[in-house]
Amino acid sequence: MVKLKVENLKKSYGSLEVLKGLDLEIQEGEVVCMIGPSGSGKSTFLRCMNHLEEINGGTVIVDDYDLTDPTIDINQVRQNIGMVFQHFNLFPHLTILENITLAPIELKKETKDSAKKRALSLLETVGLKDKANAYPKSLSGGQKQRVAIARALAMSPDIMLFDEPTSALDPEMVGDVLEVMQTLAKQGMTMIVVTHEMGFAKEVADRVIFMDGGYIVEEGTPTEVFDHPKNERTKNFLEKVL
Ligand code: ADP
Ligand code: MG
Repeated sequence: MVKLKVENLKKSYGSLEVLKGLDLEIQEGEVVCMIGPSGSGKSTFLRCMNHLEEINGGTVIVDDYDLTDPTIDINQVRQNIGMVFQHFNLFPHLTILENITLAPIELKKETKDSAKKRALSLLETVGLKDKANAYPKSLSGGQKQRVAIARALAMSPDIMLFDEPTSALDPEMVGDVLEVMQTLAKQGMTMIVVTHEMGFAKEVADRVIFMDGGYIVEEGTPTEVFDHPKNERTKNFLEKVL
């Protein structure tokens, strides 16, 4: 089943053309890692997937909702798309538990009890059950990022978008976060992960996409893209990062 379908997606900021016509189809349960140089439009692409950006051309269909259709309820669509950023943006004045239960209670009208129960179980999944009543400032970067993942999962999304979730972390924190993401992938979550963690992409991705200059330049299985890149730009990029 197709979860996400992008056709000829175009996005500009003023006269700067960032996405110049992207086509992509993602199946339910697929894990797609997106790599590419800084400024190639990876973050912009993700933001177009949940309508944080107005697109300038083409179509984006998520779960059968056409995001370019002005009559759809975009908040409804967004509830099904979890997003995790480089910077975790936890609410500093709320406990970890409150950070996770806020959206389910406010937006999904879940009862406090059921939201709390679910939050605790998610915290257990990410290995932080003992931090439920702590405040974000007492957590390490890696722990905060795992809370951010739990918070996104609390809305029961069926697609998760990750934008360089480990780029801001100290190296020793990266593994724990990647492990949580790998578990999620194994559970069948549909995921798009923008990352510089080539090891993760090789091991976890079903498909790797290389973006450059506003286009998807190359895509394939990790073996195809990493071990037998066809395009010169892919080769150049991989030589620098591997
Ligand atoms: P990546 O995530 O691959 O590093 P981005 O999607 O962040 O790339 O950015 C792609 C290009 O779009 C860059 O040239 C960046 O400066 C520009 N850009 C990103 N966001 C904005 C914005 N809100 N306004 C203007 N230009 C932007
Ligand atoms: Mg980016």
